Amino acid sequence: MTTRVWDYLPEYEKERKDILDAVEKVFASGQLVLGESVRGFESEFAAYHGLNHCVGVDNGTNAIKLGLQALGVGPGDEVITVSNTAAPTIVAIDAVGATPVFVDVRDEDFLMDTTKVEAAVTSRTKCLLPVHLYGQCVDMAPLKEIAARHELVIFEDCAQAHGARHHGAQAGTMGAAAAFSFYPTKVLGAYGDGGATVSDDEAVDRKLRRLRFYGMDDVYYTLETPAHNSRLDEVHAEILRRKLTRLDEYTAGRRAVAARYAEGLGDTELKLPQLAEGNDHVYYVYVVRHPQRDRILEALKSYDIHLNISYPWPVHTMPGFAHLGYETGSFPVTEALAGEIFSLPMYPSLPVDQQDKVISAVRAVLATL
Ligand SMILES: *Cc1c(COP(=O)(O)O)cnc(C)c1O
Repeated sequence: MTTRVWDYLPEYEKERKDILDAVEKVFASGQLVLGESVRGFESEFAAYHGLNHCVGVDNGTNAIKLGLQALGVGPGDEVITVSNTAAPTIVAIDAVGATPVFVDVRDEDFLMDTTKVEAAVTSRTKCLLPVHLYGQCVDMAPLKEIAARHELVIFEDCAQAHGARHHGAQAGTMGAAAAFSFYPTKVLGAYGDGGATVSDDEAVDRKLRRLRFYGMDDVYYTLETPAHNSRLDEVHAEILRRKLTRLDEYTAGRRAVAARYAEGLGDTELKLPQLAEGNDHVYYVYVVRHPQRDRILEALKSYDIHLNISYPWPVHTMPGFAHLGYETGSFPVTEALAGEIFSLPMYPSLPVDQQDKVISAVRAVLATL
């Protein structure tokens, strides 16, 4: 049996009745767009974070893009972030006309190296955009200090960190606003695309509601600044409401898989994920590191185990971002990682026998190196 790096089917088998009931509820409701389910999900997802506002949108990339726009980030502004992220983080910054400015990540946990941030601040810097990568949070205290000193806004990319905590504070509550993705693989995933931007600021919330709705006020239908249509779908919102009630359970499942991997592989040469101080990890992905990564992946092919690399190409080396002017060598940690990391299968319902198959296959391959 093939072991997939991610699979929603075991979960669907378990939750089928609830998921199909959610679909039926929306189809029978008489309101297919921006109805009760989107409103309900928005208030429940805001409440999950102890925040007042959440706006559902069509995907995580637009959640970042519209969030930045709502915070007033636009052409001419610089946004300090990392190249060691999913390309959509940078695509969204680019889409608002701002310039992404990268800093390197830390060798031990692959998260933004906050000691490099202040040197990247210029008179055009407007925003710090930490990415809570793989399921754990960036060190926020230094970022808050830098933001206060230079009057910058902090916008969190929480696409991989639903429910993660940092010194007790939840991902998404530590800046001016934050973006989430509900792409199916994510810690909270829809059965299709979805996203949301959360904040505690009513003015930001009002702007976001216009930005996802052609730029129009959804009560009076007036339009000041034209925007696109980026609405969250009712069906996905209703499914997300149900899954939100199980989010902590899913995370417990992920942590159990991570614990089994750590126990089964802790004595090998493989570098396992390291928990940064104060963090509760939600293990969106389980990323390991080894200098002979490519040989390991090649050898693992015969075990019928799918593995992923998140991410094989640092964003600053992608042809589409050549105009940013970074050369190879600019971010040594980020570049070294890209050649050495890979992800083991990770999802809450990953059967235990499959976890053990992964552990023994990896051990067998490491023994041949
Ligand atoms: C998934 C992801 C996104 C984009 O979300 P989509 O819903 O796929 O548009 C942005 N940033 C990070 C870090 C992600 O992992």
